[in-house]
Amino acid sequence: MKNIETENSNNTMTVRVDTPGLQYDINAIVKAFYPDKEIRVLEPGTVMPASDWDPRSIWMDVRVDDAVINVEGTDHVYSMDSELGPKNSFKLALYDVMCDITGRTLPWGNLTGVRPTKIAMARMREGADDEQVLEYMMSHHKVSPAKAHLALDIAHREEDILSRIDHRHGYSLYLNIPFCPTTCLYCSFTSYPYAAWKSRADEYLDALFREIDYVADDIVAGRAGTDGDGSGRTLCGCPDSIYIGGGTPTSLDEEHLERLLKYLTDRIDISRCLEFTCEAGRPDSITRRKLDILKRYGVTRISVNPQTMQQKTLDIIGRKATPGQVIEAFRMAREAGFDNINMDIILGLPGEGKDEVSDTLERISELTPDSLTVHSLAIKRASALREHLDEIGIEALVNTEETMALAADCARDLGMKPYYLYRQKNMSGNFENTGYAVPGKECIYNILIMEEVQSIVALGAGAISKRVDYKDGSASPINIERAENPKDIENYITRTGEMIERKRALYG
Ligand code: SF4
Repeated sequence: MKNIETENSNNTMTVRVDTPGLQYDINAIVKAFYPDKEIRVLEPGTVMPASDWDPRSIWMDVRVDDAVINVEGTDHVYSMDSELGPKNSFKLALYDVMCDITGRTLPWGNLTGVRPTKIAMARMREGADDEQVLEYMMSHHKVSPAKAHLALDIAHREEDILSRIDHRHGYSLYLNIPFCPTTCLYCSFTSYPYAAWKSRADEYLDALFREIDYVADDIVAGRAGTDGDGSGRTLCGCPDSIYIGGGTPTSLDEEHLERLLKYLTDRIDISRCLEFTCEAGRPDSITRRKLDILKRYGVTRISVNPQTMQQKTLDIIGRKATPGQVIEAFRMAREAGFDNINMDIILGLPGEGKDEVSDTLERISELTPDSLTVHSLAIKRASALREHLDEIGIEALVNTEETMALAADCARDLGMKPYYLYRQKNMSGNFENTGYAVPGKECIYNILIMEEVQSIVALGAGAISKRVDYKDGSASPINIERAENPKDIENYITRTGEMIERKRALYG
C-alpha cells in the first residue's frame, strides 16, 4: 500500500489520461475515494492553464494503450478482460489501484452509478441464478458480499412487486411543487421558500393546470403516440401511480392545495390508480385540514419526515421543526385515516453518532410508520451546510456501517423489508439510500422511477419526463428518453407551452 497524500498535498487530484472518453469514469471512481477533493481529468489535447498548475496536487498518469496506471512513479500494470471489454477492464483496474493507494475498499466497489440494483435485475432477467448474480457483482464490480446480497434481495422484491402490475404498458404521473416552508441547509432539490412565492402560487398552479390539461387531453384520452411496447397501443387511461413531490407539496396553503387536487382529480380519472402519494415531508407544513383535503381527494400514501429526532441537529441543519411537531403530525395523519405513512431519516448528519441515531430510531419505532427511508447524507463541498459547519467549527459528517446496520435492524423489527435502493454522488461513506416497507406498503412509484421501467409523465418546474420503450416480449427496456422542464419557476411559468410541446415530441 502506498499513501499518495503528503502533508503538502492540496485539495486537488489531477489525472492525465492518454485516451479520450474516460473522463467521466475516472472522475467518478477517483472521487468516490476522495469525496472532498476536486478531481481534474486532463484528456489528450487538453492544456491546463498555468494558473491551475499546482505542484501540491496529487498527480496520476493513466496510459490505457499500454494498460498502465502510474501514480507518483509507481506503475500498476493491468490486463484486459475480454468478457468485460476495454472500458470496464480499465474501470476495474483503476478501482484496484485506488484501493491499493488508499488502503481502502468501497462497499459498492467500482459501481459509481445511482442504481446498483439495476445490475442485479438485468442479470436475473438474462437468466442468471442467485449465485451467478452475486458472483458477477463481487468479481466484476468488487461489490462487498453484504451489498451484493442487499442488491439481489431488493431486485427479487422489486421483480415480485412489478410482476403484479402491467408496468410496460402503463404510465405514472409526477407533479412537482417546488416550495418549502424554509430551505434546509443540505437541500439539493429544486425548492423555494413558500412565503416568497405565496402571492404567485396561483400563477404556478395555472401553469401546472395547463400541463394537466395536456395529460388529460392527449395522454388519458389516448391521443398521444404508442406506449413504447412495440405493439402500437396508445399510452392512455388512468395512470398506474401518481406522486406529488417537491419541495414539500403541503407547503401550499389549504386553499391552494385543494385547488390543485380538485383540478387534478376533475381532469384525470384516478379510479384505477394503484397508489397516490403526496409528500408531506416537513411537519411544520402539516395541518389537520390539509390532511383531510389529501384524504378527500384520494391520496393513499404520505411522508412525514423527521430526518432526525435530535433537536440540536435540526437546529444545525436549518430544519425548522421540532421532534414534537413530527410526533404530532404523524398522530394527526393516523387520525385522518392514513394507513400508509413513510418516514425519512438521514444518517451521517453533523455531530451524530451511534447514540443519536439509536435514539432517533427508537422514537420513530414508537410511532410504527409503514415505511422508513434511510438516506446517507450527500453533502456538496460548496454547500450552505458545509459553509455553516465551517463557521461553527463542526467537522464530523460521519456515516458508518454501524449506523446503517442500526437503521436496518430497526426496519426489520418494525416488520419491514428493503424494497428499493439508490445512491447519490458524494454520498457520506459511499453508502446508499434504502427504502424499507412493511410488505404491501411499498411505494410502487419509487420502484418504477428507480429501475426506470415505466414512462413517467412529469409536470411542474424541474420535473423530468421519461419515455421508456420496450420491444415486443422484452423484459428490459430498449430505450429511455427524457424531456426536462426548467427548474426556475419564472421560466417554467412563462414557457409552459414549450414544455407541453416537448412532451408531445417525447410521447408522440
Ligand atoms: S424539505 Fe426537502 S426539499 Fe424542502 S428545503 Fe428541506 S431538503 Fe429541500
